[in-house]
Amino acid sequence: MEATDPQEKAKLLARLTAEPGLCRTCLHLRLLATPRSVFVRCGLADTDPAFPKYPPLPVEACGGWSPHPLAPSPATPPVLPGRGGT
Ligand code: SF4
Repeated sequence: MEATDPQEKAKLLARLTAEPGLCRTCLHLRLLATPRSVFVRCGLADTDPAFPKYPPLPVEACGGWSPHPLAPSPATPPVLPGRGGT
């Protein structure tokens, strides 16, 4: 199941066992939940193969990062162009 409601996303983010890094505040973040686990999926991977569908976490730099309008700004802005992940 993929979360779209901001409150549901916040609950799923709290269940992550790994820090997602920039993905946490990214417009392209997709969260997939199973009863046991939550997975971070990159929505940009659907249209751009340069981005991994399931990026290694934490993502510390990403050229695809776009701020989610409801998320706080990240402490460290993205610095590397192009590929997703670190
Ligand atoms: S990998 Fe990059 S583009 Fe994809 S969700 Fe994370 S920060 Fe956003």
